[in-house]
Amino acid sequence: MKFKAVRGFKDWLPEGFIKYDFLINIAKDILKKYNYREIKIPILEKTELFVRSIGEVTDIVQKETYTFQDRNKEFLTLRPEATAGICRMVIEHGVYAQAKPLKFFTVGPMFRHERPQKGRLREFYQVDVEFFGSVNPFYEVELIQLALNILKAPFKELGLKEERFTLEINSLGCEKCRPEFRNYLVSELGKKEERLCETCRDRLRRNPLRILDCKNEKCKEVLKEIKGISEFWCDECRAHFQEIKELLKTVGIDFVHNSYLVRGLDYYVRTIFEIKAEGLGAQDTVCAGGRYDKLLSELGGPELPAIGFAIGVERWALTIFSKENQEEKTLPEKLSQSLKPEVFLVLLGKKQFKIGLQIAKELRESKIKTEVLYEEKSLKALLRDANRAGVKFALILGEEELKKGKIIVKDMEAGSQKEVEIKNCVNEVKNLLEKEK
Ligand code: ATP
Ligand code: MG
Repeated sequence: MKFKAVRGFKDWLPEGFIKYDFLINIAKDILKKYNYREIKIPILEKTELFVRSIGEVTDIVQKETYTFQDRNKEFLTLRPEATAGICRMVIEHGVYAQAKPLKFFTVGPMFRHERPQKGRLREFYQVDVEFFGSVNPFYEVELIQLALNILKAPFKELGLKEERFTLEINSLGCEKCRPEFRNYLVSELGKKEERLCETCRDRLRRNPLRILDCKNEKCKEVLKEIKGISEFWCDECRAHFQEIKELLKTVGIDFVHNSYLVRGLDYYVRTIFEIKAEGLGAQDTVCAGGRYDKLLSELGGPELPAIGFAIGVERWALTIFSKENQEEKTLPEKLSQSLKPEVFLVLLGKKQFKIGLQIAKELRESKIKTEVLYEEKSLKALLRDANRAGVKFALILGEEELKKGKIIVKDMEAGSQKEVEIKNCVNEVKNLLEKEK
């Protein structure tokens, strides 16, 4: 075929979309219980916003953004993440002046020009959650609790065995103590430069912290000889991290302190975290986030401490549905049911079509999911269609029934049927469906 979707971009067919929709609705319900409010921000922003927020020398900005000049020669970028846009929104509309805390979430596509593979796309969806207005570690712990609640909820809802999620936390220090660690890294790793991979040699100049996160075995060996950031924390950062660990224990959330954990975005300070899923292979981080107290002021707003996280929806979906193949057609009963109509209206002839239009409208107005075909086919063929659609009940209107003002209600599973008055058929179906539940 001539046209294919752009590499790394994908279509969501109904069987895939229903999973997405199911997960997003669960996330939204939980977020609303935590009193987060949903917003939408544009997909396109000025390039400068991401350069200033994510950081000029990060992989995301240097290699991964979709950036172009529009017809006015303005540099624009498809958002690679949502935090920067939400900060811009908070500043632009003076939202920061409202009563704190400010709690927002948004769901939508993000764009990064990475190498597509399992769990890594160029257009992917995030549930992005942001909290503004406090440095209190209680909020970080509550945020982590929220993220875990969201990730685990679909398993309960579908009665599935829960995926093993591992929470990793670290502190990146603050503007006081981080530079010292950075200097140490540059000088220590500089001495061992020839043992680092090519990317890390480059990172040594651009973004040395990111070396801690390198997956290359050679680099991992070198890192064993390097002190962790915890040895450089100032007293405040140490106390903050200590409190978070204690609070996590208090609420019974298991965690691992990974002192090599860093993030690909420059704006984080102090707490960062990732939630990994056991069954996912190389791309196993389903959720990542942390504290970014300086970002708002760096973007020209007031000082306003903030925390947030983003869940990668496709990876989250992989933990719940098929791990081997995301496109697999088998769906849990609960979801596949929601793809099917509840009633199929079988109309045998043109005259019946006209009455059928009205009956179908009434069924739908009564919130009954109805399918109807206006096709001159045999009863047998139409019942086959009804079967294929997977409905519980068919309503059959033939010439004979119409004359008597009646319609046949057929139970497709039991095979039994009865005649009812046309004017009562909506209620009849409603009662039958009610009994099914
Ligand atoms: P990774 O190390 O996996 O590239 P990241 O550090 O770039 O992740 P974040 O920017 O923190 O990720 O994004 C948060 C979440 O969004 C990730 O944990 C992941 O679930 C998801 N995500 C990030 N990039 C992609 C992508 N290219 N395709 C699918 N999901 C992604
Ligand atoms: Mg990445």
